[in-house]
Amino acid sequence: MPTKNESKTSTRLSKAEKERIDQVLTLLDEHYSTNLICYLDHENAWQLLVATILSAQCTDARVNIVTKDLFRKYQSIEDFAKADVKELEKDIHSTGFYRNKAKNIIECAKRLVEVYHGEVPREIEDLTSLAGVGRKTANVIRGNIYKEPSIVVDTHVKRISNKLGFTKQDDPEKIEEDLMRVLPKEHWILYNIQIIAHGRSICAARSPQCDECFLNALCKDYQTKRKKLKIINEKIDIKEISNSKKAKENSIGKKVK
Ligand code: SF4
Repeated sequence: MPTKNESKTSTRLSKAEKERIDQVLTLLDEHYSTNLICYLDHENAWQLLVATILSAQCTDARVNIVTKDLFRKYQSIEDFAKADVKELEKDIHSTGFYRNKAKNIIECAKRLVEVYHGEVPREIEDLTSLAGVGRKTANVIRGNIYKEPSIVVDTHVKRISNKLGFTKQDDPEKIEEDLMRVLPKEHWILYNIQIIAHGRSICAARSPQCDECFLNALCKDYQTKRKKLKIINEKIDIKEISNSKKAKENSIGKKVK
């Protein structure tokens, strides 16, 4: 039975690998939202940009608490460009790394006002020329604001993509390249949204619930661990059989004497 993602993945993959990836994507579609939702609250592009800068090493929930008041106080990107750095540091203190973040937000806002007429640019080169904006933040903007196919490699995408065997890389840029090679373009934005949901609900970093996971039959990490466990169990079984055989032979030997 063909899945709806079938034949859309990279042609360089083996047929079996393409099928496996198609099945993973189909299951993700079945279990999680297929709507392009964003976990960071925002009403426009510059708010999402500021929220994403704040989200480094911080939970989305915490960022949403902070930006609720922040965007009431700073109502335009010009307000951020004119902000007092010490005051902004206090405003965003609870998101962590507040000194760097405050400095970057002000620098970023100044460049947006001076070079881009207050608009958040669309192209990756322009976005990454802004202070505090790397590929991850740039891809958040491209995907959420401009609906450009893009893959955001955050902590969940990095960890779970490795577990699923979609990449073996540690570097986010290389992971992004690998994912762009193996995932169908129309699933790029959604993949991030669904993998975050999976990381929060089932495949947590510290205690993934692999036995309950709907992806376990397709997950390379889980299958590798199962195979290893099976080999260990088989070795234990063989040892136990040979021990009981020896014990039996010894007891027969004693009876004969
Ligand atoms: S089987 Fe385990 S490691 Fe693999 S995706 Fe599911 S929870 Fe994560």
